[in-house]
Amino acid sequence: MAGKTLIDKLWDQHEVKVLEDGSSVLYIDRHFIHEVTSPQAFAGLEKRGLPFFRPDQAVATMDHNIPTTGQANPMMGPESSLQVSRLKENCEKFGIPLYGMTHEWNGIVHVIGPELGITQPGMTIVCGDSHTATHGAFGTLAFGIGTSEVEMVMASQCLLQQRPKTFRITVNSQLTTGVTPKDLILYLIWKLGTAAGTGYFLEFAGEAFRSMSMEGRMTVCNMAIEMGARGGLVAPDEVTFEYMKGREFAPKGAGWDKAVAEWKKLYSDSDALFDREEVFDASVISPMITWGTNPGQGMPIDGRIPDVTDKALDYMQLRSGEGLLGMEIQYVFVGSCTNGRIEDLREFAEVVKGRKKAAGVTAWIVPGSQLVAKQAREEGIEKILNDAGFELREPGCSACLAMNDDKIPAGKYCVSTSNRNFQGRQGPGARTLLASPRTAAVAAIAGRITDPRDYTQPNP
Ligand code: SF4
Repeated sequence: MAGKTLIDKLWDQHEVKVLEDGSSVLYIDRHFIHEVTSPQAFAGLEKRGLPFFRPDQAVATMDHNIPTTGQANPMMGPESSLQVSRLKENCEKFGIPLYGMTHEWNGIVHVIGPELGITQPGMTIVCGDSHTATHGAFGTLAFGIGTSEVEMVMASQCLLQQRPKTFRITVNSQLTTGVTPKDLILYLIWKLGTAAGTGYFLEFAGEAFRSMSMEGRMTVCNMAIEMGARGGLVAPDEVTFEYMKGREFAPKGAGWDKAVAEWKKLYSDSDALFDREEVFDASVISPMITWGTNPGQGMPIDGRIPDVTDKALDYMQLRSGEGLLGMEIQYVFVGSCTNGRIEDLREFAEVVKGRKKAAGVTAWIVPGSQLVAKQAREEGIEKILNDAGFELREPGCSACLAMNDDKIPAGKYCVSTSNRNFQGRQGPGARTLLASPRTAAVAAIAGRITDPRDYTQPNP
């Protein structure tokens, strides 16, 4: 009999029961909650008179609606205010730990879980948010769920799910200078398409991932969903354990050694059979940028828009056959659960250090959490940004989906480190070009789309 994939091992470990139709009742280890998808689920729980089954396995944060300036005295629209206050009331009522605005552990739900050590290898993790896939970087089965499923987990700590098919994407060799994990995932989505992962859970394997930091792995897993997959994971290794050690909620003392011994068993057997396999070479990947209105409509930054008839071109006001290098941009957004971590800010700061923001560019640099902001201050990143004409805002989802006031105006081009370039995602009529923090940094300095490989040397 063939060995097992890590995905199947984790599924088996958490499968409480298999129903007659083949679906599984899956035990959920961690449930992350935020203000947008939880109110209806809490209301449903109350309506049915049910308690929150395991509040100690849930954590809540505010991220989608909150402003990224003036959080101490927040100005929010009526809808955002309502969602934020409902979350607070519900967390108090049901005994859920809440890291609200200005709390030292507040931040985007998929940033705080890993940085606080709440996300741990081998877990099943859910949240009413599709980018829950981010936590797969730790070798977890992490996926987004709908509102009725959020209620199901609140009531039972279990979830009814179909076992996914397995898809291994192996990327051999390493990324070259100036090319980042964001470029890697944009490349994979460009090559495979936005529906390639439908029905699958992905495992990312190979030297490119083994040599990648945890934050890079999070960026990649975050966008597994943009390939249509339920989620994506990377088997844990020494890089994972090193990242986790000492984090607030990570096991400590003898518990740490025991946990690491268990985590070391989390890998796909060498003879495991996957339902689908694809292999790529990291060394041929260039910095990537999107030209269209889904993350698969990308190209190498020095490439040309393909010969297509697509309404995306009308929306973006671009033409087939043209290149993007040299094109003027008006906005830059660095942040989100894809690229709002300290390494992303370091990457941005490395490029802008000793340089100046281009006149006419509005740049929003938004840390993914309070801890990221604190670290950025302590490392001198904020000073570098300020000296170059940038400002570090307060944490939140911000212009990733423009639920607060951080909206890109209609018709303006924004180089964005977020994960979705859908029509109107960053504001009605906004034109989003997805790219890495490095590409965003060179665009902010030059005021134009620029190849980040031209800026790999720090400014003397
Ligand atoms: S940063 Fe964007 S993708 Fe991530 S949780 Fe917030 S809105 Fe969703």
